[in-house]
Order: sequence, then structure tokens, then C-alpha cells
Amino acid sequence: MSAAFPFDPILLDALRNARFIVALTGAGISAESGLATFRDAQAGLWARFDPREFATPSAFARHPKRVWDWYAWRREQVASARPNAGHFALADLERRAHAFALVTQNVDGLHQRAGSRNVIELHGNIGRVRCSSEGTRVELWDESGEDVPRCPRCGALLRPDVVWFDEMLPAEALAAAQDAARRCDALLAIGTSAEVYPAAALPASARAAGAIVVEINPNETSLSRRAHHVLRGPAGEILPALLARLALPAS
Ligand code: NAD
Repeated sequence: MSAAFPFDPILLDALRNARFIVALTGAGISAESGLATFRDAQAGLWARFDPREFATPSAFARHPKRVWDWYAWRREQVASARPNAGHFALADLERRAHAFALVTQNVDGLHQRAGSRNVIELHGNIGRVRCSSEGTRVELWDESGEDVPRCPRCGALLRPDVVWFDEMLPAEALAAAQDAARRCDALLAIGTSAEVYPAAALPASARAAGAIVVEINPNETSLSRRAHHVLRGPAGEILPALLARLALPAS
């Protein structure tokens, strides 16, 4: 896709005039960095792994070492991945928009590594660990032993600082995301299947409050019919082309 991609002039005007833009990202924006999405039929993580075995509190209670090792494996994948052109375009948009917030369901930290600053992480970050009992974040832990490392304060097992199935989202991040969705003029839903709630409700909140909703995704999702504009294609191609067409001055 080139900068000649036929973006609707109405969309371009709306984004140029927007006082507050929110981007909601999902696993799809990191697909071009080589990280598997969850739901895609062929390559998706959950096509290869049963989430009940790895990403629930009860799986951790039954098999803590297995869960710990699976996350250690994913943490290594994330550490060796690089942000792609889609991540960099969003960091650029943040520098050029009047106001901007990035709400992500991703746990990979690639937005921050691309230079995004106002990032609301709804599902935690795989690069961090916390005490499974007290919730305190722990900066350094020893990966070399046979067992799951323990909290230096209370001795409970450490766990990845991510939100598992059956768990609540961090209240502060969720409130910030909901507030941003209600106040924005435009919401870009990028690389998300819009199936996981409450994140999946954010585009509808934005729309109900009068914002335009734009989907960027190579595939149809349950959001497609309710978006004002649908840009079909990979985020790593669409977003840089969109930024180039917008030609927003750096602020
Ligand atoms: P999902 O796997 O449900 O959906 C991914 C979406 O991305 C699909 O609609 C797919 O069509 C689209 N997609 C694929 N390639 C794309 C590309 N190049 N550009 C744009 N879109 C593309 O992901 P989701 O909606 O984020 O699902 C929610 C859960 O997945 C979240 O809880 C999130 O924490 C978790 N997750 C995160 C990561 C990560 O941090 N990288 C990876 C896998 C899953």
C-alpha cells in the first residue's frame, strides 16, 4: 500500500480537526513484529495453546511452574521483537495530534519502545512481575532456579503482571480508557478482534458520545459493521500511509 491509498477525504478532515484522538490497539498491531495474535485461526496463540492451561488463576494455582515457564518463553519472544511501522506511526501521531491517548490490550510494551508516551495498558505488561499474594511489583527476580521465584517480602510465588482470564482489569487503567473513549472525537480501533470485554465496548462508547470510529484491520470483525470508516489492510502499511496523507504539523 502506498501513500496513494484512497483515504476518504471526510475521514482525513475529521482526523485533522480532531481535538482528541484515541487509538485502541490489539494483538494485530504486533503481528508484523512477529508476535502471534490470540484469535487468528492458523497462527493464533490459542490455536496452539489452551488458555485454561496457561492464562487463568486456577492454572497458576495447579501448575505454577508450567505457567511461569510459558510466560518466560513469551517474555523472551517479546524481548527479541522490534516495534514495527504501525507502532512508530502511532508514536508519531501522538506528537502531532492536539491530544492523544493510546489504549492497548497488548502486554508486549512495543508501543512504549516505539516512543509512545501516553499509553494505557488494560491487560498489564509481560515484562513485569508481581507478588501473587500482595500484588506488589518486583523489579528483579532470579530465573535460574528449578522453582517459580518468590516474593522477597512475603515469600509468595511471583507471577506475570498481566490480566488473566477470569480476572478484573486494573481499575485505574480501565477508568482512564473509558474516560478517553467518552471524550475523544475519533477512535481508531487497530488490530483488535473486538471480542474481549470490557475493551471491546470502548468503540461503542466513543461512537455513542459522538466520536467517529475507524477500524484498521485486514479482516472483518464484529466491529466492522459499526465503524464509520473501515481501512482494510495491515496496520504497518495503513498507519504510515494515513499519517503521510494527514500531513499534520509536529507540535
Ligand atoms: P485478537 O488475536 O483477538 O485479534 C487480532 C486481530 O488483529 C484480528 O482481528 C486480526 O484480523 C487482526 N490483525 C492481524 N494482523 C494484523 C495486522 N497486520 N494489522 C492489523 N490487524 C491485524 O487480539 P485482541 O483483540 O488484542 O485480543 C485480545 C487479547 O489478546 C488481549 O487480551 C491481549 O492482551 C492479548 N494478546 C496480546 C498480545 C501482545 O501483547 N502482542 C499477543 C496476543 C494476544
